[in-house]
Amino acid sequence: MKNVNENFNSLTRNQTLVLDCLKQARRPLGAYTLLESLQKKGIKAPLQVYRTLNQLADKGMIHKIESLNAWTLCCDTKHEETPIFVICKDCGDVKEHLDKQFSKNLHRIPTDQGFKPDHSVVEIYGQCGNCS
Ligand SMILES: [Zn+2]
Ligand SMILES: [Zn+2]
Repeated sequence: MKNVNENFNSLTRNQTLVLDCLKQARRPLGAYTLLESLQKKGIKAPLQVYRTLNQLADKGMIHKIESLNAWTLCCDTKHEETPIFVICKDCGDVKEHLDKQFSKNLHRIPTDQGFKPDHSVVEIYGQCGNCS
C-alpha cells in the first residue's frame, strides 16, 4: 500500500502505532514488548515491528539503546550529534543528552586509522537523582 502524501514527515499507520506506544510507556521498550501491546492493533509479526523500528530510527525519531536492547523516543528533532544516554541502573530511567563538541571528538577517533564509522553508541550507567 502506497501512501499518497509520502514525504519526510508522513508516517505509516504502523509507524504511528509504534510511536504512540513508546510515548505512552515513557521508557525504553524492547521489540517484543512493543509487539505484545500492538498485537491488538493488528501488528502480528515481529518482522513488522523490527522494520517499523528501523524506519523510525532512520527518520531520527527514535534511538536504539544497545545495552538494553530497547528503543526510546528521541528527545529532539533529527540531530547530527551522537546521542549520549544516561541510564539509571536502579529504576531504568533513561535521559538523552546531546553534546556537539563531544560528538565531534568522538567522530574523529576512528577516522584517524581510515576506519569508516557507521554509527556510535554512548551509554552511561549510574544512579539518577531520585535513586541516589
Ligand atoms: Zn535523539
Ligand atoms: Zn533511578
